[in-house]
Amino acid sequence: MSMHSDELEMLADLTFKDAVIATSLYCGSCGYNLKTLPYVGVCTECGHRYNARPLRMDGIFTPQRLEIPLGDAAAGVLSGVVAAGMTIRAIAPSPSRGVYVIFAVVLGLMSVAFAWIMWRKLCKYAGFRKIAKRIESGVDD
Ligand SMILES: [Zn+2]
Repeated sequence: MSMHSDELEMLADLTFKDAVIATSLYCGSCGYNLKTLPYVGVCTECGHRYNARPLRMDGIFTPQRLEIPLGDAAAGVLSGVVAAGMTIRAIAPSPSRGVYVIFAVVLGLMSVAFAWIMWRKLCKYAGFRKIAKRIESGVDD
């Protein structure tokens, strides 16, 4: 008999069913201290689902993820600058104009994609900063 990974996950969750979180762990959505709450449950402050079981840690605040997306910003700016250069070349009459148009469109789209990814990460970063500040201020301790 082989067990599906979902079944193993359920079994692992069952092992922690009646255990409560003994240390300070914080909700990944609002930063509320989940100490003394069950390992698998819903944040009493904001209703965010979490699973604090070891090797799972879903919905739990993890400070190591606090980073500004500089790589995505650089990639966005670089592809944007090259796309602008290609656009200028595409406007000028030339036999290889079509190639410049294709490069300008592709790099322009890449630039927009990187900008979007950077924006999403910045929003996440801002949220994490807010949670970190809340934890530092010790509201729930
Ligand atoms: Zn919460």
